[in-house]
Amino acid sequence: MMGGTSGLEHLDELYESIILDHYHNPRNTDPLESPDIDVEAHNPFCGDEIHIQLDIENGKVSGVSVSGQGCAISQSSASLLAEMLDGTEATEALELVSLVRRMMRGDELSEEEQDQLGDTIALEGVKRFPVRIKCALLSWTALEDALNG
Ligand code: ZN
Repeated sequence: MMGGTSGLEHLDELYESIILDHYHNPRNTDPLESPDIDVEAHNPFCGDEIHIQLDIENGKVSGVSVSGQGCAISQSSASLLAEMLDGTEATEALELVSLVRRMMRGDELSEEEQDQLGDTIALEGVKRFPVRIKCALLSWTALEDALNG
């Protein structure tokens, strides 16, 4: 267990292990050569930084790179995003963003919606810590802005 102010200490153990795994072994961190989308996001409240790169081919995410630095929640959330996004349609990616946001807002999600979220459901407990919600949503909001922009 991590102590102190990590925000993880009250989370479900399984969820905590998913978050820590993504924090320590982030997925898809290799930079892309000529990404179609290249966006950086910053959370001044916590000092989190995220860099997202995407290759988009025929409306589908064909390559994804996410890297950054900051707290365990922001970084694991970004890694989960990288894992979820690979191979999805851009429209699906936007659906995922809205699901993650609804999860953080405490909305009731259907079983199907929970399935759609995959391991990202591990971040659910973060909704109880308002300061941490920004950390969890940082990469997803940046992705949404980039896809809509
Ligand atoms: Zn943070």
